[in-house]
Amino acid sequence: MNRYFADFHIHVGISESGKWVKIPTSRQLTVRTILDTALQRKGLQIVAIVDAMSPWVQQDIGRLLEEGRLVAQAGGGYRYHNGVTLLLGAEIETCEESGGMCHSLLYLPDLPAMQELTKEMSRHIRNIGLSSQNAHMPLRQLASIARIHQALFVPAHVFTPHKSLYGACSPRMSSLLNEADLAVVSAVELGLSADTVMADRIRELWGFEFLTNSDAHSPEKIGREYNLLELAAPSYGECVLAFKRQAGRRVLENFGMDPRLGKYHQSCCGQCETIFSASPIQPTCPSCGCTKLVKGVADRIEEIADAPDGLHPATRPQYRYQAPLYMLPGLGGKTLAKLVEELGTEMELIHAVSLAEIQRVGGRRVAAAMAAVRNGTATVQSGGGGIYGKVGLP
Ligand SMILES: [Zn+2]
Ligand SMILES: [Zn+2]
Repeated sequence: MNRYFADFHIHVGISESGKWVKIPTSRQLTVRTILDTALQRKGLQIVAIVDAMSPWVQQDIGRLLEEGRLVAQAGGGYRYHNGVTLLLGAEIETCEESGGMCHSLLYLPDLPAMQELTKEMSRHIRNIGLSSQNAHMPLRQLASIARIHQALFVPAHVFTPHKSLYGACSPRMSSLLNEADLAVVSAVELGLSADTVMADRIRELWGFEFLTNSDAHSPEKIGREYNLLELAAPSYGECVLAFKRQAGRRVLENFGMDPRLGKYHQSCCGQCETIFSASPIQPTCPSCGCTKLVKGVADRIEEIADAPDGLHPATRPQYRYQAPLYMLPGLGGKTLAKLVEELGTEMELIHAVSLAEIQRVGGRRVAAAMAAVRNGTATVQSGGGGIYGKVGLP
């Protein structure tokens, strides 16, 4: 068995033919640049783009196959320069009768399977070229479609206030999905503002693997959260086994931001965005008096929890706090580029390169920051209301 770093939620901004795929997303993110960044700069071995339902993205993948840069991988997925595996995913929005909206991720083994899904979803989605569009159907209908297409089905960033299962639709997944639909759910994505400790407060989640993904809309954010998987090979089929914890394949560790760094961690005023720090939350904003409240992930989980704090299923992997390198004070883009050029990829910098080497190239302050990332001692100022938290050094 081998170990692989994987990020299963990356967005394409624009196609090589110049068509926007996801707004707002950086135009530097094409299928090709995502793969180059994962390979050369990030050191990830498995990446999934979640806009592969777009015909424009499929065209770009087709071109990379023609050029011989992408090669079909036995078991599903595609190898890029024999260094990183590309998986094909689709982020799709559903809508409940209550008006609550939810994002889900569907993954498929190859381009023909994804093109079949495009054909099916074109009947429900107005602009199939754009990512994360509303499918005008409830979650349970999308789960049935996932079952028919034999897709991996993963509810995305499940606690975020605007578009997620627990944040915007229902306190229980089991009230949205019947037993047959629930069996389709392959894993659950935590989102940046929650961690394993918080998510295991919901007992119905104990049977699912958790994923920590970046939801990157720009190159630097690729890998800001990631997973360490134990697999026999970096293929789609092996990831399916890992999500189901079968045949010794598994998610070994989740690497995620301290949830307080997430931009939806704390509740805030929907009008003036003042963060509500008092607990329990007051009905009116202490600053402007308005009653429009955006409930943060921490308060939402507290509200719907049915399991005590600190309990986990025995199989739950370690959740390791990690401040993304671009958030570290004193570590600017130029220094980071120099570190990558001279010492290795971001994954190597985080997990392997000696602090002495990092100090030699980046200076003492950068070495201290890297040490804080490794041992989880970076300090954190909470985020909320759409603004990220801040990292400090101990
Ligand atoms: Zn989303
Ligand atoms: Zn997304």
